[in-house]
Amino acid sequence: MRHIPYAAQNIDRADVKAVQAVLNSAYLTQGPQVEQFEKAVCAYTGAKFAVAVNSGTSALHIACLASGLRKGDEGITAPITFAASANAMLYCGARPKFADVQSDTVCIDPLEVEKQINKKTKIIIPVHFAGHPCDLEEIHKLAKKNKMMVIEDAAHAFGAEYKGSKIGAGKYSDMTILSFHAVKHVTTGEGGMVLTNNKELFQKLIKLRTHGITRDPKMLNNNHGAWYYEMSELGYNYRLTDFQCALGISQLKKLPAFIEKRHEIVNRYNDFFGQISCAQPLGVKSYIEHAYHLYVVRFKADQLRASRRIIFDEYRQAGIMVNVHYLPVYHHPYYRRIGYKKCICANAEKYYEEAITLPLHPGLSKKEVDYILLTTKAILKKYKK
Ligand SMILES: *Cc1c(COP(=O)(O)O)cnc(C)c1O
Repeated sequence: MRHIPYAAQNIDRADVKAVQAVLNSAYLTQGPQVEQFEKAVCAYTGAKFAVAVNSGTSALHIACLASGLRKGDEGITAPITFAASANAMLYCGARPKFADVQSDTVCIDPLEVEKQINKKTKIIIPVHFAGHPCDLEEIHKLAKKNKMMVIEDAAHAFGAEYKGSKIGAGKYSDMTILSFHAVKHVTTGEGGMVLTNNKELFQKLIKLRTHGITRDPKMLNNNHGAWYYEMSELGYNYRLTDFQCALGISQLKKLPAFIEKRHEIVNRYNDFFGQISCAQPLGVKSYIEHAYHLYVVRFKADQLRASRRIIFDEYRQAGIMVNVHYLPVYHHPYYRRIGYKKCICANAEKYYEEAITLPLHPGLSKKEVDYILLTTKAILKKYKK
């Protein structure tokens, strides 16, 4: 059997045609597709405003800047995430603090967030890990009480719901970021977006995306003529191209079907892992709708005669390209160098010892899932105590 990737983009003829049409049009960048994509994501999520950017990381960066985060401030995020969630705070000169995750969902624990809050804390970036929304209501309460902004990292959770509201609707946060990297639910190759319901934040984000430049006559200090623009902030070039946005629009139409397909595969995995105790999927709260970016299984060291590393290698040798999400961020050498200690968060540490991400993407066939389950059965039989 060929190698089965843990994630893969799903591009069809409609996607190719949509991109081709833009390549043959007058605009390659900053044409009509950008705003159309932003509008389509607003319509889907219920957000009022959207700012498309060239990556999820750029989205996190300008969201942190728009929140006012700066040198001397602190922010709180989860240790089990892609490094970008914490790096965005470092870009602003602020210091990320890591609040431990819940042992069942591996999402940031509001009780742990509370312990990390002090006078310097300005923002919280909850990460909807694997597509499971964090407990936003509790986080929102803490943020209001302590005058902090909430920026949801929804890179894994496009299409997920929390207590009946779509992630991105912003009922419990100030901003939400999405990623359109190739492994995510909807892809533009590279790409990202910031969603908000706050017009002031929206205007800041728009400026930060393009060098801090504005042409809006109402916002200019001077006006020398129709050519005139001003740079009033230190911004960036974080723009997303028109042909990428065309791909995004085309992909977004398929998001509900993509999520349905992911759920079908997850149901098969759950049926299997429901029968055994030495390998367990992550917990799911009753008040959420999962987007299932990742399917993580925890292999229990006390019930197996093999470490996670050995089990991981068994899968890879069988052509199943499993993965591990993630090394706790504070373990990375860069974080160690700037003063972070290992083992800050006990639940994150334990999780990291046990976790393996199985393949999950809409293109995964029934036969491939059969093969993954058969292989799992054989591995567990070999190593079960
Ligand atoms: C993918 C991802 C990002 C960053 O997205 P890019 O588009 O790759 O820059 C941020 N946070 C999390 C949790 C992610 O998985």
